[in-house]
Amino acid sequence: MKCFSVAIDGPAGAGKSTMAKRVAEALGFLYVDTGAIYRTVGLAARRAGVEDSAGTAALLPGLKVALDYGADGLQHMYLNGEDVTAEIRRPEISLYASRVSAIPEVRSFLLQKQRDLAATRNVVMDGRDIGTVVLPNADVKIFLTAAPEERARRRHAELLERGMDSTYENVLADLTERDQNDMNRPVAPLRRAEDAVQVDTTGISLEDSFTLLLDTIQRRIAL
Ligand code: C5P
Repeated sequence: MKCFSVAIDGPAGAGKSTMAKRVAEALGFLYVDTGAIYRTVGLAARRAGVEDSAGTAALLPGLKVALDYGADGLQHMYLNGEDVTAEIRRPEISLYASRVSAIPEVRSFLLQKQRDLAATRNVVMDGRDIGTVVLPNADVKIFLTAAPEERARRRHAELLERGMDSTYENVLADLTERDQNDMNRPVAPLRRAEDAVQVDTTGISLEDSFTLLLDTIQRRIAL
């Protein structure tokens, strides 16, 4: 059976997860948030008090990173059997995730896990290197982006809504640092795949962005 895959890549705070989740729902596909997988490894590094590449790579053989979909339909992340779904969303974990994601051993540790998820079902997968590395043969590739200030505004509002303490300036600094890390790392840097459709949502409402995205994907899947 042919499995369809939609790859959505882009910088932090571009609205990938919100959009990908809704697109997956509309298409009846599974939504896979790969950032959550990197965040789980970032949490493990933080808990172990490890900052360097060699120390992080040495942790990997002892790590069990698993995910499943609960009755709520949400992607739950497990670190050595513990449900860490909420904890990995803490803002301080974002930078750890970004740091560990530049380590080649971490990327190869997680690569097959991500490919396996797309091997047996239709998926919408979001991340940084889905269209370029994880699923280079994805049926549709989207590069979702927006201006940094707008991404920071949205992420800040989201954190406040979740009751987390943050300022707009901190969020903008965090996004900018992560973008730099993600775009400049030697392995699987964030970049638009040559065959990806770029969707810029600066100044476009959530609803209009969703319509634009779903329409772009449906037209391509129908080809
Ligand atoms: O998407 P999210 O912001 O949750 O991802 C957290 C971090 O994980 C990103 O800043 C990025 O460094 C890393 N990541 C990655 N490759 C992916 C998904 C996430 O390097 N496919």
